[in-house]
Amino acid sequence: MVPFNYLKVTNADEASAHFSKNSNAEFIAGGTNLIDLMKENVARPDTLIDINKIESIQSITELADGGLRLGALVKNADTAYNERVRKQYPLLSQAILAGASAQLRNMASNGGNLLQRTRCYYFYDTATPCNKRAPGTGCSAIGGYNRIHAVLGTSKDCIAVFPSDMCVALAALNARVNIHGLEGGRVIDFIDFHRLPGDTPNQDNNLKKGDLITSIDLPDESFDFHYSYLKLRDRSSYAFALVSVAAAFKLEDGLIRDARLALGGVAHKPWRNREAEDFMIGKEPNSMIFSQVASIILDEAAGFEHNTFKIELTRRAIIKNCLTAVNKERI
Ligand code: SF4
Repeated sequence: MVPFNYLKVTNADEASAHFSKNSNAEFIAGGTNLIDLMKENVARPDTLIDINKIESIQSITELADGGLRLGALVKNADTAYNERVRKQYPLLSQAILAGASAQLRNMASNGGNLLQRTRCYYFYDTATPCNKRAPGTGCSAIGGYNRIHAVLGTSKDCIAVFPSDMCVALAALNARVNIHGLEGGRVIDFIDFHRLPGDTPNQDNNLKKGDLITSIDLPDESFDFHYSYLKLRDRSSYAFALVSVAAAFKLEDGLIRDARLALGGVAHKPWRNREAEDFMIGKEPNSMIFSQVASIILDEAAGFEHNTFKIELTRRAIIKNCLTAVNKERI
């Protein structure tokens, strides 16, 4: 780890002001990923700006339209166990609790969850080429060991996956990300927040330098009964998803009135396919329909030497999890 300066701020303006003076600074909240990256010399900020004392982004509050605002500094565990989240957005609660370990969820912040970096082995190994860590050096995973890597939205420069569970549910729920930047505030739809790798895999998301995530808004939509989050992984806890599926439905007279489907572990960002979601509207929910949905989503999937199994695994995960969600019965 290289030496760095450390300072604390108490409001978003102060945070941005410090950032504008030092473009090699990083914000730190829970630090559950950033500290690892610094220890491995993958991240080398010369200043850490501690944002934990910013009071205005520490709570979960109701929005005027009935939705919910999740403060960026609220811990993942406090979000998952919040009464309103459990009642109104149980899919999110379930997804958060599928991630990491209890200790990490107690420490990790909501904003930080969006900003965690890929767990590609080569990204953490500074002795190997990696376009995400060192642009222009190459991608060691494409011709190397790529069992955990992406099968959708890859590029010739990077095939990494985004590791979050929480973000898969946020994508399915049409969340929005509120940002305080050097030029003022703005909002990004969640599905546009993270990027595909293209030829700039070093950029995980559409934040600009100095942007601070202040909160995440959830719209007031009721996906509180026919929902399910399925995470398939190598161990039953404290492991990242090989494939995950967030599914949520509104049913009426036995037919699908609204459908949300987001995938994790298969791409550089939470993956949604609107064509597949629209295809389900007005149809009877059954395994044949969900199999067709999987085919639409996976039509453009392509595996590499060690991860082709993920395509069939994803197909089965989609069908199984959609059936789990629609077959819930009220007691
Ligand atoms: Fe780096 Fe992406 Fe290739 Fe992994 S997949 S080695 S993160 S460029």
